[in-house]
Amino acid sequence: MNTQQQDQSSKSEKTAGRKRLSILGSTGSIGTQTLQVVDEFPDEFDVVSLSCAGNTELLAQQAQKYSPDTVCIMDPEKAREFEKEYGKRLGIEVLTGEDGLVSAASEGCDTVLTAVSGMIGLRPTLAAADNGIEIALANKETLVAGGSLVTEAVRKSGSRLLPVDSEHSAIFQSLYGNRPEDVRRIIITASGGPFRTFSKEQLEQVTPAQALKHPNWDMGAKITIDSSTLMNKGLEVIEAKWLFGLDPDQIDVIVHPESVIHSMVEYNDHSVIAQLGLPDMTLPIQIALFYPNRMSNTRPSLDFAKLRSVTFEEPDRERFPALAYAEEALRTGGTMPAILNAANEAAVPKFLAGELRYPEIASTVRRVMDSFSGEIVREPSLSDILEASEEAKRRALA
Ligand code: NDP
Ligand code: MG
Repeated sequence: MNTQQQDQSSKSEKTAGRKRLSILGSTGSIGTQTLQVVDEFPDEFDVVSLSCAGNTELLAQQAQKYSPDTVCIMDPEKAREFEKEYGKRLGIEVLTGEDGLVSAASEGCDTVLTAVSGMIGLRPTLAAADNGIEIALANKETLVAGGSLVTEAVRKSGSRLLPVDSEHSAIFQSLYGNRPEDVRRIIITASGGPFRTFSKEQLEQVTPAQALKHPNWDMGAKITIDSSTLMNKGLEVIEAKWLFGLDPDQIDVIVHPESVIHSMVEYNDHSVIAQLGLPDMTLPIQIALFYPNRMSNTRPSLDFAKLRSVTFEEPDRERFPALAYAEEALRTGGTMPAILNAANEAAVPKFLAGELRYPEIASTVRRVMDSFSGEIVREPSLSDILEASEEAKRRALA
C-alpha cells in the first residue's frame, strides 16, 4: 500500500458512524466556529471538505488538523500553490473555482454547512439540494437570491434545510412541536447595530472603521456592515419567508438591543414562544448539526438576574431604509430580491474602499431597484437569477 492509499484507507475507517461534513467558507467567522463545534464533539464528525476564497495560510492549518478529502480554494493561482505544497503530502484533492465549490458541496458528504459570504453560495447550495445532501445554511444571500429554487430542490430530493442564522434558528426552535398552520406571525429581533441612536446627520459621517465594530457579535466584514445598515435584517426577513414558507405580512421585525431573545413565533391563540440565549453562534451551529438532538456543551447559562431587563423598540425605516427596501423587494418578488442583494453586495465593498459614503450603500440599492422596474422576471430560473444579479451589480458599480 502506498502512502496515499494508506491515507485513503485511514480516512474511510475514520468516517464509520460519523457525519461527513463539508464546510464552505471554513476560514471565516462561521466556518471557524463550526470547527470549534466539531472540536467539542470529536467523535461525531468527519470533516471531508474545507474551503476558502484565498486565505490558504489558515486553510493549510485546518487541512493538517482535520485531514479532509478535498479542499476548495476559489483563487486558481493559490489553489495551484496549495496543491504543490500540500496536495500529495496530505493526500488531499485540491479543487478550485465555483465548480470546485459545487463538488465540495455535493459529493462525498452527508451535510454541507454553507458559510461563504455572498451569493457565490447559490450554485453549490442548489447542487447539494439536488443531491439530497443536508444543508446547514448560514449563507443567507443564497436564499435571498434563489429561495424559490433552493426550497423546491430540497422538496424534490427530500434533503433538509436547517438554519444557522441565529434568528432563524430561534424561530426553528420555537416551532418545534407546533403545526405550521397555527403560526400567526414571526417576530425577528434586531440588535439595531452600532448606529441605532445616530441621527441622519451623524449617519452621513460614518466611516468603515466605525461600521466594522458590532456591539454584540464578532462577524465577517460584509455581514457586519449589513447589520449596521439593517440590510442584514432585511435579508433575514426574505430568508425567513423561504425557510418557513410565510407570507410577507407574517414577518415582523423588532429592535432588541440586548440580543438575548433571538426571535419569536406568535401563534393563532396569541401565545408567543421565544428562544433565548447568550449571543454565541456556536449554539445555532450546534443545533443545526445535531438536529433533532440537543447536546450538552460547555457554554455558560444565561444569568437572568445579571441581565435585569430586556428592551424593545420599532426599527426606524427612515434612518435605516435598507430594511424597508428589502421588505419591498420581498413583496415585489421574482428577481427583485436577487437584484436588491446583488446591488448591496456591490455597494458594501465600495463603501469599505472609501468610494461610497455610508448612506450611499442604501441609496445605491434604491437606484438599482428602481432601474429594474418593468424588468422583473416573475418565476425566475437559475439563469434569470444569475443574469439579474450580474446586471444589478453592473448598474450598482456604474
Ligand atoms: P466571513 O467573511 O468571516 O467568512 C467568509 C468565508 O467564505 C471565508 O472562509 C472566505 O474565505 C469564504 N469566501 C468568501 N468569498 C468567497 C468566494 N467568492 N468563494 C469562496 N469562498 C469565499 O463571513 P461570515 O462567516 O461572517 O459569514 C458567512 C455567511 O454566514 C454570510 O452569508 C453571513 O451573512 C452568514 N452569517 C454570519 C453570521 C456571523 O455571525 N458571522 C451570523 C449569521 C449568518 P477567505 O477567508 O479566504 O476570504
Ligand atoms: Mg442573524
